[in-house]
Amino acid sequence: MPRTSLLWHLFAGWCSLVAGVLVCCYWLASVRLADLADAAQRHRLEEVARTVLDGVPAGETPADDAFVERARSVLGGAPVVVELLRPDGVLRVRAGQAGAADDRPADAVARRPRAGDDALAGSWFDVTTGRRFLSVTVPHGPPEAPTALVRASRDTSESDRDLARSQRLLLGGQLACAAAALAAGYVFCRRSVEPVRDVASATARLADGQPAVRLPACDVLELATIASSVATLREQLEERGLLIGRQGTQQEAVLGSMMEGVLAIDARQRILGINRAAADLLGLDVEDAVRRPLQEVVRNPDLRRFALLAIDCRDPVEDDLVLRGPRDRTIRLRGTALRDMSGEGGAVIVLNDVTDVQRLENVRRDFVANVSHELKTPIASIKGFVETLLDGAADDPVDNRRFLQIVAKQADRLAAIIEDLLALSRIEQSEGAGTLPLEPTRIADVLTAVIGECAPRAAEKSIRLVTACEDDLTAEVNPPLLEQALINLADNAIKYSDDGRTTTIDAVAEGVDGTAQLVLSVRDEGRGIAPEHLPRLFERFYRVDSARSRALGGTGLGLSIVKHIAQAHGGTVTVESTVGVGTTFTMRLPLARD
Ligand code: ADP
Repeated sequence: MPRTSLLWHLFAGWCSLVAGVLVCCYWLASVRLADLADAAQRHRLEEVARTVLDGVPAGETPADDAFVERARSVLGGAPVVVELLRPDGVLRVRAGQAGAADDRPADAVARRPRAGDDALAGSWFDVTTGRRFLSVTVPHGPPEAPTALVRASRDTSESDRDLARSQRLLLGGQLACAAAALAAGYVFCRRSVEPVRDVASATARLADGQPAVRLPACDVLELATIASSVATLREQLEERGLLIGRQGTQQEAVLGSMMEGVLAIDARQRILGINRAAADLLGLDVEDAVRRPLQEVVRNPDLRRFALLAIDCRDPVEDDLVLRGPRDRTIRLRGTALRDMSGEGGAVIVLNDVTDVQRLENVRRDFVANVSHELKTPIASIKGFVETLLDGAADDPVDNRRFLQIVAKQADRLAAIIEDLLALSRIEQSEGAGTLPLEPTRIADVLTAVIGECAPRAAEKSIRLVTACEDDLTAEVNPPLLEQALINLADNAIKYSDDGRTTTIDAVAEGVDGTAQLVLSVRDEGRGIAPEHLPRLFERFYRVDSARSRALGGTGLGLSIVKHIAQAHGGTVTVESTVGVGTTFTMRLPLARD
């Protein structure tokens, strides 16, 4: 429906009113004017007719000649025709200006008025000439039995023209008044509409989101009521807006700070909301994903199936999802159906990256299995030889000593494993709590202690132990732990090298990316480690050659202990090896702490 302004509504009403009044006034005035003009004409014609009959006694019939004479003197030059008629209306004689009566239509001339006839006065219109005639018939003598009739007629064209002129003037005047009334009405309507416009434009700007707009004060009661109601509504809206904004910010902050991903979808699987964690897990852009269908942004059929299930199920559902990528990740999904007032529905899905939890769980399981396995072998061996001794071998002077030596060796092995496990546990604890006590230490002193510890074993294999370290090199380290790490590495170098080789232990200070580091390396000329073993070398109980390691008294925990000591110092350990050439283990520790 087309909309028009209030101004035009009001002004159109005013225009209709003015036009109606104009038409009525003009019609009434012109009709009345014509009636008055006709009445005046008739009155004059009647006077002419009576004047012509003046002096003729009431009971007599005027003589034709005398009548004509008398008529001419009365009429002078007036455009009037006077006729003397018999009581039955038959023309006896006519006097008057030539042409005036001659121009009358034939039916008018032929029409014979009778005494008592209602139509003693009348007018007719000549269609051919366009002229109008007016006549008045006056009876002579008593009205019920006149002796003659006198009819006075005249052509009214001239007076009609005067009348038309007067009517035009009247119309002109009325039109001028109407124009003035319309102009005044327009101004009045504009002034009346002005405050409504002000209120309308202020509310429109408010609706446009300009909260600073003030509603105009106005003295029209209804408008003042609207303005105050709108002002109240605005305040309420502002309050609600603030509340919703606060709630939104809080919700955003909560969702944003959550480690778990949260994804809300509607019944048609369109994304209603997604937090940063979920977007990161699914590799999406938060802004881009919202309001788009899930199937369009996530190309994972399992997640889409789960979303459908979550929307349909009454109870919360749970499942694991594997996201393939450079590094496969396991995501635990928990979905709860949403039911809103409209019954539309949807679901909220919480995504939890359990890859690390699962890995740790696997590590724990492997660790328990490995420990059990490592302990089982020496215990079984001890048990077997003890039973053999009890069964009589103890009395055999040759075997009993040999068996007891084996038992002692297995017991040492058990002790070594348990000692390494305890050491590992202690280091992990202080690593996790960050409470490793550090002190400024001369690194040369640490290297001397390491050489002192390993020298006997090196001497057994004629292995040369070489160190290279500046005397004044100091670093904030935990001396016993650093010593243990280096002993583990040097011990391995000796164990896995052939006789007569050289093992070198270096310590230097290096600046890497603006940070000073203590770089400790243990290099041997042993058989080396194949590349496929290197990624897992620092895992607990990982061995390249289990039989050889065990035979050499290894626990499989040495490198794991080295790794945790390096981490507890805030550093790293790496390995480089070439089969047949040798192996280099490098520890990088921060030289000093803040
Ligand atoms: P282990 O007690 O068996 O020596 P480690 O954790 O110290 O346990 O070492 C793990 C494995 O790494 C060893 O079994 C050995 O196969 C390999 N390895 C460690 N150091 C060297 C080295 N310097 N040269 C060759 N192999 C080594």
